[in-house]
Amino acid sequence: MVTADRGGNVSSVPSPEERREALKAVLQEARGCVRCPQLAQTRNAVVFGSGNADADLMFVGEAPGRNEDLQGLPFVGQAGQLLERLLGEIGLARADVFINNVLNCRPPGNRDPHPNEIERCQEYLFRKIELIEPVMIVTLGNFATKLLRQDMTGVMRLHGRPEVRVVGTRAVRLYPVFHPAAALYTPANVEVLRADFQRIPELLALGAPEQPVRPRAPDPVVEEDGPTEASYAGVVQREGSDPDLAERERPPEVLQLGLF
Ligand code: URA
Repeated sequence: MVTADRGGNVSSVPSPEERREALKAVLQEARGCVRCPQLAQTRNAVVFGSGNADADLMFVGEAPGRNEDLQGLPFVGQAGQLLERLLGEIGLARADVFINNVLNCRPPGNRDPHPNEIERCQEYLFRKIELIEPVMIVTLGNFATKLLRQDMTGVMRLHGRPEVRVVGTRAVRLYPVFHPAAALYTPANVEVLRADFQRIPELLALGAPEQPVRPRAPDPVVEEDGPTEASYAGVVQREGSDPDLAERERPPEVLQLGLF
């Protein structure tokens, strides 16, 4: 579908199916990623993200830990339980949001991500953001906050302070909060995190911020059979794709995406 936003940007809005197909293509690429030789060697799974590919709300954590690496899904350990509980308290479930991390691979021994690993992995995160088009991104902890704000100010100063930021090509409501794992170390911080979570519904209700004006995309090349919506969206559409068949034939690695 071709639409124009309030800034006059003409764009193609991918259908949910096109969005999933495009995300799966990025997942397949990430699964073979060897940009960080140490992480590629020591990981059990690439933890790409899970949740709703059409979500308005995205969470970005730091990096998979042991449980996440074993299950191939983000935030499935203790920190994930807290995240789920706090989501439940504001009437949301994991299936309503998209959860992912700065790094797709577990750093050995859960060490901090190295700057060069963040740099090599950020393209995947930005592509997910571009495809999912969240209205709001909640950064969990310092690594996600610093990366998406492109600034060294820490989450201690910024938590609970929403702002509109351009992330990649999109303007989003960026909302830094404490990392749930860090909050678990200090019970008082769980309450700070809970209070920050309580504001998420009101911020989401503000809707999408105005998008930056982008240069008009060149006209699509007209193919012999005429352009399809997929060619406008830059998405390869499988011929004769039958969603039920796709479900039955889905290879195990695609299930790891955990898309509801
Ligand atoms: N901590 C994170 O930052 N991400 C996870 O997926 C799990 C724990």
